[in-house]
Amino acid sequence: MAEIKTERLDSYLRLIDISRDLASTLDLNQLLDRIVNAAADITSAEAASILLYDNTSRQLYFQVATNLDEPTMRGLVVPLDGSIAGWIVTNRKSVRIDKVHTDPRHFGDVEQTTGIPTQSILGIPLITKNKVVGVLEALNKREGHFTAGDENLLTVLGAQAAVAIENARLFQQSDLISEFVHELRTPLASLSTATYLLLRPEMSREQQEQIVKNIHTETLRLNSLASSFLDLARLESGRVQFQKSTFDIMDLLHECRDVVASKAEEENIQIRVIEPDGPTMLDADRNKIKQIILNLLSNALKYNRPNGSIILKAVSSEGEMQISVQDTGIGIPEDAIGHLFEKFYRVRDHETKAIGTGLGLSICKQIVQGHGGSIEVKSRLGIGTNIIVSLPRVSKTIPR
Ligand code: ADP
Repeated sequence: MAEIKTERLDSYLRLIDISRDLASTLDLNQLLDRIVNAAADITSAEAASILLYDNTSRQLYFQVATNLDEPTMRGLVVPLDGSIAGWIVTNRKSVRIDKVHTDPRHFGDVEQTTGIPTQSILGIPLITKNKVVGVLEALNKREGHFTAGDENLLTVLGAQAAVAIENARLFQQSDLISEFVHELRTPLASLSTATYLLLRPEMSREQQEQIVKNIHTETLRLNSLASSFLDLARLESGRVQFQKSTFDIMDLLHECRDVVASKAEEENIQIRVIEPDGPTMLDADRNKIKQIILNLLSNALKYNRPNGSIILKAVSSEGEMQISVQDTGIGIPEDAIGHLFEKFYRVRDHETKAIGTGLGLSICKQIVQGHGGSIEVKSRLGIGTNIIVSLPRVSKTIPR
C-alpha cells in the first residue's frame, strides 16, 4: 500500500514538472512531443498519442504519437463515427477499455495500418474554452489495467495540454499571418502607386499600357501568394492527409512535362525526360508529388536562360526513388542555398527576373518530409541548378 502511494506521489510530482514545462514552450511540435511522452510515463503505458479533431471533415487525425513516425501518421485518419476517439469527442467523456477488440466502437484500420496491436486504451477529451480540440490516448497498460487513478492523472495532464496546444496554435498562426501580411505590403504598394500614376493626365498611352501590365502582374502574384500561403499553412498545421497510391513515376514525369510544354516553347527551352534503369513504381500521394514536380519545373523555367534546357529524371534503387529537375539557368549563389527553404525567401537578384512568392520550395519540403524523404539543392552560378527529391519507394503505410 505504502509503495502504491509513493508511486502516485511520484506521478503527481512529475505532473507538476510537466505543467511547468508546458507553460514554457510555444513550439507546437515540441510541446505535443512532451505531452505524449509524459502521458505514457505517468500512466505506465506502452505508448500514447494525440489526435486532433477537424470540424470541417469531421475526422480526427494523428498529430503526434510516441510510437509512430510522421509519414505513418500523415496517412492515418480516424472517423468521428465508429471509433473510440470519435466517441470521446462526441460524448466529451473519457474511456477506459481493457479489451479494445471486444468493444464495438473500436476502429481497426489504424491498427491494421501500423501493425501495432492495441489491447487496452485510456482516452480523455482535450477541451479548451468549452470546445473539444482532440483526444489524448494512452495505449496498452504495461501491467494490469488502467485505473481510476491513471484516469485522474491523464485528465489533469489533458487539461493543461489542451490550453497549451491552443496557445501554441494561436501563436503559430499569428506568426505566419504577420509574415503573410508583411509580404502583402510590397504588391499592394505597387498597385497603389500604379493606380495613382494611371490617373495622372500627363501619362502617355504607352506608359498607361505599361502600368496596366504591372497591375496585372502584381495581381497574379497576390493570387498565387494567397493560394500558396493557404497550402503551406495547412501542411504546416499537420491537417493535410496524404492519399497514398502506387503509380508509375514515368507517367507522372511526362504528364508534368506536358503541363509546362507551351510555356517552355515560348521561352525556347527544351525539356528532356530520362527513363530510369530501375523500377518505376512509387508508393506515395500522386497529386502531392505532382505539385512538387510542377513547382520545381516552374522554377527551372523561370530561372533558366533563353534557349536553355531542363532534364527531368527519376533514378531508383531498391528502397529509394530520386526525382531530379536540372536546369541550365542562372544558378543560386552559395550563401543563398541555406535559406532557400525559408518561407518567403527569394534570392535578391532573382526578384526582378521572374514573379514568385518564395513559398514554393517550403511547400515542396513539407510534402517531401511528410513522405519521409529529403530534398537537396546543387547549384553553380551561371551554370545551373539541380534539385533532387529522394523518397522512400514503398510508403510505410498501407494505401487507403
Ligand atoms: P519562388 O516563387 O520565388 O520561385 P520558391 O520557394 O520556389 O519561390 O524558390 C525560392 C527562391 O529560390 C526563388 O525565388 C529563387 O531565387 C530560388 N530558386 C529556386 N529554384 C531555382 C532555380 N531552379 N534556379 C535558380 N534559382 C532558383
